Amino acid sequence: MNKFWSSRLSGIEAYVPGEQPIDRRYIKLNTNENPYPPSPAVQAELESLQLAKGEELRLYPDPNSGNLTAVLAQRYQVKPSQVFLGNGSDEVLFFSFMAFMDAQKPAVFPDITYSFYPVYAEYLGIPTICPPLHEDFSIPVTELCRNRGVVVLANPNAPTSLALPLETVERIVRSNPDFTVIVDEAYIDFGGESAVPLVDKYDNLLVIQTFSKSRSLAGLRVGYAIGNEDLITALRTVRDCINSYTIDRVAQRVAAVAVQDEEYFQQTRHKIIATRERCADKLSGMGFAVLPSAANFLFVSHPTARAADLLAGLRQEGILVRYWNKPRIFNHLRITVGTDEEMDALLDALRRLLS
Ligand SMILES: *Cc1c(COP(=O)(O)O)cnc(C)c1O
Repeated sequence: MNKFWSSRLSGIEAYVPGEQPIDRRYIKLNTNENPYPPSPAVQAELESLQLAKGEELRLYPDPNSGNLTAVLAQRYQVKPSQVFLGNGSDEVLFFSFMAFMDAQKPAVFPDITYSFYPVYAEYLGIPTICPPLHEDFSIPVTELCRNRGVVVLANPNAPTSLALPLETVERIVRSNPDFTVIVDEAYIDFGGESAVPLVDKYDNLLVIQTFSKSRSLAGLRVGYAIGNEDLITALRTVRDCINSYTIDRVAQRVAAVAVQDEEYFQQTRHKIIATRERCADKLSGMGFAVLPSAANFLFVSHPTARAADLLAGLRQEGILVRYWNKPRIFNHLRITVGTDEEMDALLDALRRLLS
């Protein structure tokens, strides 16, 4: 804190993103990126852009990302007025906190979930209600059905990898008629059931997805919300109070091309699911407790080896995974599902560390 800083920053604990190393090449299993490159159509689109010569960089982008919005609306069978785009789903989430929460509309999310939620709430002065996950890390559903604030539900949850069935998500939406229910589906394409088909039925449901994980475009920074038109209008209003041009021209074009390559999307997500299942079996065989994952990562613990030691040992072997020194999860590791070769290297390294 310094005399020039606003009081908003006093005592705030900002989010700590996963490491993006620059010192050497690691096998990166720490930030849930997709191990496969984006669709080949993305490369072709980038090559066709006359970036510096043409209009592409000279002009501002379309603030509403019209074409990309239409492509997403078509893909998810909703109207373009039900789609909002942001600079990564993190931005869409932050705008949602600003649009739907305040001192009288608290945020309700479990104690163990995506760690950006408490940061947004603290920064914006929004009160929080954080019911603990059950002992087995399952979602305390009844606590999220009490119509006492804006529920933020990561489904599948992070970092636990567990998904709720759609009927349970619907029960949560139905039980909170006076508040928005935000379902963060960053990992939905790896095994969960999306709530998007419910957006016409509930005016309080906002579903948020991202291009970062299942579409291999974390570096592009594009995320989106799908929901009732009035919720989308609120998000556009927040955006236009801050920065109307959140998605650059290149990102709008590249993201649209990626959505249109459905075949590549299906292929890569199924490869990741197959690798995940194979790897989960192997880890169980080595004595790890592995939660049943519906995401592109595994949340594991070992009965005798300490997670912090495994983290350090893996790093020495050139493999990065994610660890939180926090209550209840300090003996767990979150391991992103990489390629089969990367996962074989991980399994070999773990075998060495355990022996
Ligand atoms: C990765 C992640 C996001 C953010 O993704 P963006 O790259 O900002 O689109 C949001 N929610 C959860 C739960 C995530 O794991």
